[in-house]
Amino acid sequence: MQLTVVGTGYVGLVTGACFAEMGNEVTCVDIDERKIENLKRGILPIYEPGLETIVSGNVSAKRLQFSTSLQDALAASDVYFIAVGTPPNTDGSADLRYVLDVARDIGRYLSHYAIIVDKSTVPVGTAERVREAIAAELQARGVDIPFDVVSNPEFLKEGDAVADFMRPDRVIVGCDSDTARDRMRDLYATFMRNHERLLFMSVRAAEMTKYAANAMLATKISFINEIANLCERLDVDVESVRRGIGSDSRIGYSFIYPGCGYGGSCFPKDVKAIIRMADDCGFEPVVLKAVEARNEQQKQLLFGHIVREYGNDLKGRRFALWGLAFKPGTDDMREASSIVLLNALIAAGARVTAYDPVATQAAHAELPESWFKSGALVLANDQYQALEGADALILVTEWKPFRHPDFERMGRLLKEPRIFDGRNQYDPQRLGEAGFRYTGIGRSNIR
Ligand code: NAD
Repeated sequence: MQLTVVGTGYVGLVTGACFAEMGNEVTCVDIDERKIENLKRGILPIYEPGLETIVSGNVSAKRLQFSTSLQDALAASDVYFIAVGTPPNTDGSADLRYVLDVARDIGRYLSHYAIIVDKSTVPVGTAERVREAIAAELQARGVDIPFDVVSNPEFLKEGDAVADFMRPDRVIVGCDSDTARDRMRDLYATFMRNHERLLFMSVRAAEMTKYAANAMLATKISFINEIANLCERLDVDVESVRRGIGSDSRIGYSFIYPGCGYGGSCFPKDVKAIIRMADDCGFEPVVLKAVEARNEQQKQLLFGHIVREYGNDLKGRRFALWGLAFKPGTDDMREASSIVLLNALIAAGARVTAYDPVATQAAHAELPESWFKSGALVLANDQYQALEGADALILVTEWKPFRHPDFERMGRLLKEPRIFDGRNQYDPQRLGEAGFRYTGIGRSNIR
């Protein structure tokens, strides 16, 4: 099939590259000229394991191309994926400006029957707004071209995006037309020959499914964080409790790891957006509001532990920080817990030497340049260099190389053998035996 994917971020680029990998001819369109120029030269705007290989392979095979012109791409294809950002407005609702801009552009240039697929995460009712925006443009042009709008929310995880797309747990398709349903079935059949994981439903149900899934995952995280905070006060190690409840097949182990809060471009904004959707229809979403509130507090937790140890004034202190990305496997720092912690540490007068395996460029984009200029924040070239002379190590992102480090070497490099572990990666008893003082999340050694 000939496909157009609009937006070349985490979702758009992975979608375009993976469809091309399956033999489709794909044009990826973005308004960001620099991004497109770089992509044409083989430079990817994001870090995602395995993506570079399939992008370059499919560009060489001429199945994948990049353009800033939606008009040119529209002439060639008949399925258009909208994969642009839907960032939060100040009131928490999803900003649909980019989605509706693309819809209007499609309406401006459409010349034949097309299927327009919302892949961006959008509130219930958005497909209808996309349909209206396209129809208004067609009417203004005085033409009558049939089209269908489909909801096909994306569930890939940053850090595993290619693998998730190539072998999805399920693909959700919300559509009201037989033609669109058949096309979408054809398109995704290559990813699941037996169609068993391809779920068709109404457009509104598909839109809601995406928010419900992210809200459920965020709820699990905030739930275990709440239990962890209680464990901390009751002299209980939450890691025992986590294993105890995870072994119940009705509960399971996934997404019940206590930590210093969830971040990223999806959970925080999607929880806000579903709360807003509820508010808009006069429904009080008590659980979801608590999920968000718990997470905001959880992001402050590590700083609280540090202040408890060193006091409010951190002038003259320097901390080593491992991990800036919001989770391992990605360079994405949007809404990362590291940002909240850095703001608090630097405001209290501390200096920080941080190390992240891939988020160096993202750090410069996301964090104030003044921090780098003043030396309040320095980026180290490797994880051990960050420790040299620091008062303590703070672990924020559980990258694999941080999981089993050389503790003896760490003890020699740090000013004092002190670790604040925001992801419960280490065994407090073993660290105690190695001479470290240790603070995790919800572990009995804290008080
Ligand atoms: P992103 O910010 O990484 O990329 C969005 C891209 O769209 C940017 O390159 C931007 O330049 C481009 N763009 C904006 N307006 C445009 C226009 N009018 N024409 C062409 N290009 C335009 O966003 P993302 O992380 O890929 O997320 C995209 C959507 O997918 C969001 O709704 C998000 O919630 C959802 N989503 C994201 C993830 C994830 O892990 N990142 C997972 C599932 C769903």
